[in-house]
Amino acid sequence: MAGNVWRSMLSQVVLGAVRRPALPSFARGMQTVTLIPGDGIGPEISTAVIKIFEAAKAPISWEERNVTAIKGPGGRWMIPPDAKESMDKSKIGLKGPLKTPIAAGHPSMNLLLRKTFDLYANVRPCVSIEGYKTPYADVDLVTIRENTEGEYSGIEHMIVDGVVQSIKLITENASRRIAEYAFEYARNNQRNSVTAVHKANIMRMSDGLFLRKCREVAENYKDIKFTEMYLDTVCLNMVQDPTQFDVLVMPNLYGDILSDLCAGLIGGLGVTPSGNIGTNGVAIFESVHGTAPDIAGMDLANPTALLLSAVMMLRHMGMHDYANKIQTACFDTIRDKKVLTKDLGGNSKCSEFTAEICRRIQDLD
Ligand code: ATP
Repeated sequence: MAGNVWRSMLSQVVLGAVRRPALPSFARGMQTVTLIPGDGIGPEISTAVIKIFEAAKAPISWEERNVTAIKGPGGRWMIPPDAKESMDKSKIGLKGPLKTPIAAGHPSMNLLLRKTFDLYANVRPCVSIEGYKTPYADVDLVTIRENTEGEYSGIEHMIVDGVVQSIKLITENASRRIAEYAFEYARNNQRNSVTAVHKANIMRMSDGLFLRKCREVAENYKDIKFTEMYLDTVCLNMVQDPTQFDVLVMPNLYGDILSDLCAGLIGGLGVTPSGNIGTNGVAIFESVHGTAPDIAGMDLANPTALLLSAVMMLRHMGMHDYANKIQTACFDTIRDKKVLTKDLGGNSKCSEFTAEICRRIQDLD
């Protein structure tokens, strides 16, 4: 297994198969999006998003697909062909939470999706929500995490009994493409600065290479301020004053931890959107909370994270008017505090919260 992963990564590097992302270009008119409702509360929050999009008259037609891992030729785990075909066609997906039973015997579906579509950038905008009180106000930053290699390359082996080695793989191609994505994102989203987060003082070669690529790419984006900062310094400064950060770009493990920390600053995973950008123009937007089995089917789930992920998706597709309308209605509903789900401090059902957002959208028209 480890050997296969290693060889496949090496072939990408040597053959130069890692390409720059194609920028999405969506014509006006109805667009198809692959909807993966997911498990647990997934179907409920997906229904909420569909209703809210209908109220906003967003020109999206949903192609619903379930993804359960199946064994393909040669015993390789894969996502069902109809889900793959739908994504290959639509290029854009919206995904609820997926559970991976511990004894399932197959890799996590999230990992399988990431590998199938080479989803190399995980993007999480963390913006304070007015009216939803947390210890921090005015947070407005974006974490961009390299999603395919680093500490999570999956290359581990036992050297001798009691000694295990895990390889942190950093490549020039993957570092350059995530840096390019971060600067493009900053430029396209009217952001002023990009901070590269690293530990090149300790991991001189691996993080050193990542940092070098960030510096090189920064040379082509003189309109965006570039800074570099040690991960520990970022953590310290982040909890002291998160408002000093704008776009942060980092390798896999640092991104995994820092993106959850930043979500915590604005109220947690229930209100944080997320997008995964892949090669060939593919992108999957998702809520990053779990399946919440304790409240599944009870109409208690908060659909905000999936809804804001869907708003992020609309922006990615260039549908800013619809995105603004839905986001305004969602934030107004939260700010008003009259109709809120339990986790947001209210007593309303998911369906009531959804209906309130729909009502506000109609008022905006
Ligand atoms: P999984 O095994 O899928 O990660 P989990 O229950 O271990 O599920 P979460 O799903 O993240 O982990 O849930 C943690 C807690 O947060 C649960 O009490 C759950 O009900 C709550 N929760 C998570 N997401 C939501 C949501 N969207 N709306 C309301 N409550 C939520």
